Amino acid sequence: MSVEQRVYHYSAVMMGSPILLTLFENNESLARDVFRLIKQQENLFTVNRAHSEVMSVNQAAGVHPVVLSAPVFSLICQAKAVSLLANSCFNLTIGPLVKRWKIGFQGDRVPPADEIATLLAITDPRQVVVDVDTQSVFLTQPGMEIDLGAIAKGYIADRVRDYLRQQQVENALINLGGNVHTLGGVQASNGWAIGLKKPFAAADALVGVIEVRDKSVVTSGIYERYFMQQGRCYHHILDPKTGYPLDNELLSVTIISDRSLDGDIYTTLLYGMGVVQGSAYLADKPDIEAIFVTRDREVIFSSQRQFAFQLLDTDYRLSPLPQA
Ligand code: ADP
Ligand code: MG
Repeated sequence: MSVEQRVYHYSAVMMGSPILLTLFENNESLARDVFRLIKQQENLFTVNRAHSEVMSVNQAAGVHPVVLSAPVFSLICQAKAVSLLANSCFNLTIGPLVKRWKIGFQGDRVPPADEIATLLAITDPRQVVVDVDTQSVFLTQPGMEIDLGAIAKGYIADRVRDYLRQQQVENALINLGGNVHTLGGVQASNGWAIGLKKPFAAADALVGVIEVRDKSVVTSGIYERYFMQQGRCYHHILDPKTGYPLDNELLSVTIISDRSLDGDIYTTLLYGMGVVQGSAYLADKPDIEAIFVTRDREVIFSSQRQFAFQLLDTDYRLSPLPQA
């Protein structure tokens, strides 16, 4: 970052996460408008309060379809499509399991296996009936719940980016608790520098720094929300096939892309696929790239066209992509 460049930071806490907006001008009213936009968007999608459009669909599960606004309907349709991909680990009907596990909230413990099995039975994306003509969604089984927690922040980050562009802002960074979106870059440098967190370490400890221009950078890691029981780590990304947290070689997945919604979708999808299969999946998607951090303390890129990376932590090493 050039020393002459003045940056202004604005922050708030929303959706249970810290939100940070960085601008190159002192513009509090713009920051206020951005936070208002985020709040308004969150109100559509949240399942942590009694009222939202998504909650109204969940509350009518097994009873009747609910007519939705265009953005909510569209995001549910996209989430359903991703859930139906072959071997997808993303599942928009994961809600009942997420609520039962309560990972990251007080009182979290491994639920009894029979309860998990019962909830798995109502975790089926095919039971989400979408009707384009009426713009309505119907969950066919009582107890079903849509949870867009894995992708709402990405969708909202894209709306913030659009709004800032509309306001002719050329350089800005928005961090929605792990979803970072950037406009332009810091002058006299390649772009914005975004820290890649060191798993299970101090909050400010970094594995390295990712540099991008005009890109979204989304990280999902098992160290973000978890609890320990009998020496095992139970984290917040659930495997919809088993009902238990995904268990593989990964500590985190970062996606660099134009749309933050893609970042959110692909972090979850690739989590389920792992390094080799996940990278192969991105081979024909040149504008979507992944950085994997593994339990063996390796940092592996699916490809590297749109970002620069500087490794900072000597506990980790950069490794080539293993061959399939
Ligand atoms: P965060 O950025 O808050 O850490 P992520 O983007 O990693 O969140 O998404 C995790 C959230 O997604 C969980 O808290 C839960 O609400 C939801 N979730 C968990 N497992 C799945 C899954 N397999 N498919 C879709 N959503 C999931
Ligand atoms: Mg996500």
